[in-house]
Amino acid sequence: MWKWTNPKDIQLLILDGDSLEEDYLTYSYTINDKKIKTIIVTKKSKALVYENFKKYYDTYNLIHEIIIKENCESYSIVSISRDILFLKSMMEYHIGTILVGSLKYDFLKNIPDYDVFNVEDIVQVLNYKRTGYGAEIFATYNDKNPDKNQKMSLLYCSESITLSDGREQNVDLYFGGRYYANKHMYILNDPLSYVVKKFKSRYVKAVDLFFDSACIHIARKEKIDYLTYIPLKPKDIEENKFDRFKSLKLPKLKKGNIRLDNLLKCTKDFSQKGNDLYVRREVVKGTFQIIANVDIENKTIVIVDDVFSTGSTIFEATKTLYEAGAKKVIAIILSVNQLTESSIEYKNLKCKVCGSNMKIRMKNNTGELFFGCENYMEHKDEKNTAKLVLGMDALKKKNKFEIFEIIDLLDEF
Ligand SMILES: [Zn+2]
Repeated sequence: MWKWTNPKDIQLLILDGDSLEEDYLTYSYTINDKKIKTIIVTKKSKALVYENFKKYYDTYNLIHEIIIKENCESYSIVSISRDILFLKSMMEYHIGTILVGSLKYDFLKNIPDYDVFNVEDIVQVLNYKRTGYGAEIFATYNDKNPDKNQKMSLLYCSESITLSDGREQNVDLYFGGRYYANKHMYILNDPLSYVVKKFKSRYVKAVDLFFDSACIHIARKEKIDYLTYIPLKPKDIEENKFDRFKSLKLPKLKKGNIRLDNLLKCTKDFSQKGNDLYVRREVVKGTFQIIANVDIENKTIVIVDDVFSTGSTIFEATKTLYEAGAKKVIAIILSVNQLTESSIEYKNLKCKVCGSNMKIRMKNNTGELFFGCENYMEHKDEKNTAKLVLGMDALKKKNKFEIFEIIDLLDEF
């Protein structure tokens, strides 16, 4: 899903001339058969061979100039590049992002709106044939109005881990979407982030549907012997904490005779909050054990978790499985923690009745997401809540990149 861009308002594509090949730069992009304007931008001092080539020194000035000259808003612009750093700078100004090529592990903290592999993929994205990462789509899923034609994707990357005996093994990582912690100004009240938080204490249908679909997708390519999850810590079991993965029903997988099994036991309590990467890896070392009487020798195992931050927990679990003889371990994770910051101050929606901030909330009976203030239950007037899509639309407009004319500044002195 687009984080900042309004798909129905897309007016302009910014193509990164320094990283994209000619076929991307010269293609005639259309939305609903209507040609869409492109600007090719470059930082390098190469010959300006295309008439729509634009040289720039920094992204702030570039976007500023484009918005004024083209008379458009940040939410109507999409940027396309092979360079994730270029896209990261675009994200900061609330511009839509499409990455050409696969995302590298090191850039998981700055995931673009879409990753594509050819021009046809871009056309699909622009024409709503691809709606984005699976868990983000399921987070906005509505039982009453399910869109069956949505083609969603999983974010993929691969990382190698070192076992105790020095052997290297590969882990295939599949992600459902992006998670934004509250402390980041960048967060556009985000449906998946809300769902991730809810899933810590109760069953969430969107999460169930996501894991079910994602595992089925993997099962089409790979014979899955075991499906397992990150187990609760001893203290959590003692306190009778909600065991979130056990709540999953996984209907499609059940039909295919794949069950969720508990293969791992957590042997010690640990907290990762506030720890840096090195400390996290140390803290989690030796935490997991294979449950007795389970033979995983030469088996292909899919392991699921909810949030990927530094990867310490999932890699330690994976290591435990490989060291017990697993043939292949694949991880499916609901979301990846994002760190992208924005210099633009984040503006919330305000409740028309009491004036307080509106946030994403979930209807207890249907699981439907909507925007409401803290006191929405006490207001008799229904107008103090907003449908999810409308609220997100309003937030995008409220948080667009604003342009200040130099003249306005001069007037102040
Ligand atoms: Zn209110």
